[in-house]
Amino acid sequence: MYTKAAAAIKKAGRVAAFTGAGISVESGIPPFRGENGLWTQYDPVFIEINYFHRHRLESWRLIREIFYDFFGKAEPNAAHKALAVMEQKGLLHAVITQNIDNLHQAAGSKVVHEFHGTASILACLKCRAKYPVSEIVWEELPPVCPGCGNSLKPDFVFFGEPIPEPANSNSIREAEISEVLILIGTSGEVMPAARIPYLAKQKGAVIIEVNIEPTIYTGKLTDIFLPGKATEVMKRLLEMLAPASPAL
Ligand code: NAD
Repeated sequence: MYTKAAAAIKKAGRVAAFTGAGISVESGIPPFRGENGLWTQYDPVFIEINYFHRHRLESWRLIREIFYDFFGKAEPNAAHKALAVMEQKGLLHAVITQNIDNLHQAAGSKVVHEFHGTASILACLKCRAKYPVSEIVWEELPPVCPGCGNSLKPDFVFFGEPIPEPANSNSIREAEISEVLILIGTSGEVMPAARIPYLAKQKGAVIIEVNIEPTIYTGKLTDIFLPGKATEVMKRLLEMLAPASPAL
């Protein structure tokens, strides 16, 4: 299967990866759902947009604890790094990610479409100015806009919010022009993101899937299933694609 996957990637004129929470699990960030998911510990209502507007302080206490104090310490793993090396070598043209953790960019990927936005930026709810999280003073919650003094919100998609542009259009376009789409660590259960692989398949893309277990794509949409942890599979795939690459 690895030989087949490597051959498809080498042959393709355009290759993209579509990543989900599973690629960051080995960086210490749990998925939301499932046995060890975040939602077994927390009620997700604090990132529901209407609730957030009504209970900003309460929401922000949890947002800071989970997405900044905890997720903020994570480092990219070998799977994120393998994708960055593939891009440098011209074997990958874009990453479409559902993740908000900035780990693809931290690993060195340049073309990253963040379908659900990012936790690394805070946006003002009133004047719409955006700030890197490192520029914001965290002593008081909710954090406020240095420009107009209004509340800031993490620039990722809360429940009840639309998918941001241009990430939405860029992701759709990328799926439609890719000849190979590599799905890594995504269950395919979060809509509308889960439609991306279907768009690629409809346009004739070869679907390679990396996951520790079969998903709703496996056996239906997936052409080549590479079972296993994202870091182990992607290291092995990179060795086949570019044997002289330094160890990750
Ligand atoms: P999901 O939680 O629905 O599914 C995670 C998938 O990863 C599962 O199919 C699981 O089998 C697989 N997986 C777990 N560990 C793996 C590993 N080591 N290697 C390979 N695969 C592994 O994730 P999803 O489909 O991305 O949907 C959850 C949504 O929640 C996403 O849309 C995302 O926005 C958000 N989310 C983001 C983060 C993050 O930014 N790191 C973390 C949690 C959730």
